[in-house]
Amino acid sequence: MKKGRSCGTCTACCEVMIVPELNKPANKLCQFADGGCRMYEHRPPTCKDWNCLWLKGEMRDRDRPDKVGFVPWLMPQSLVREWGHPVIAFREIKEGSTVVPTGAQTIKKYNKKGVSVVVIRKESGRVFYPANGFSKKMRESFTAQGVDYRERGGAFHVPLDFCRAAWPADYADESNLKELIQLT
Ligand code: SF4
Ligand code: SF4
Repeated sequence: MKKGRSCGTCTACCEVMIVPELNKPANKLCQFADGGCRMYEHRPPTCKDWNCLWLKGEMRDRDRPDKVGFVPWLMPQSLVREWGHPVIAFREIKEGSTVVPTGAQTIKKYNKKGVSVVVIRKESGRVFYPANGFSKKMRESFTAQGVDYRERGGAFHVPLDFCRAAWPADYADESNLKELIQLT
């Protein structure tokens, strides 16, 4: 955690992420979120182990996730090995928040540094912004996984239906959360 930064009143990840211990689905504010965490000292391990990239020191001080409208984190290497470089996920709190200036500029900045960005949207799937263009290796990986994508302006848009099937935990609700956790 970067010195001087704390979650404060932010509860952005408490809305978008799943918390298995609480059977908390994706994209629904946790019952304990109220301008911060009402059970901070006793929050479950999933919450204790989680720090977004902003909290770790990335982006500007004023770009706290609840202010910019998306939660950033580094994707595990095991999931993005074929990219051959770091990949960051931006999970939108509000549909389209990464399209507004701060989000778009941040994506460009990371791309220039050789970091790719995957935007996870609630209503329209994922958008991939590759740092070094769409490499042959990535194209082969997309094809091998049967990823349904459309290219627009150097970004790759994957529709919601495909994302729901491929990455169901991003959209888990109360009815399938437990089942999904057992599968992963
Ligand atoms: S999104 Fe980041 S800053 Fe906001 S509550 Fe979660 S960990 Fe804290
Ligand atoms: S328990 Fe606290 S930290 Fe965890 S999701 Fe709920 S409000 Fe956030």
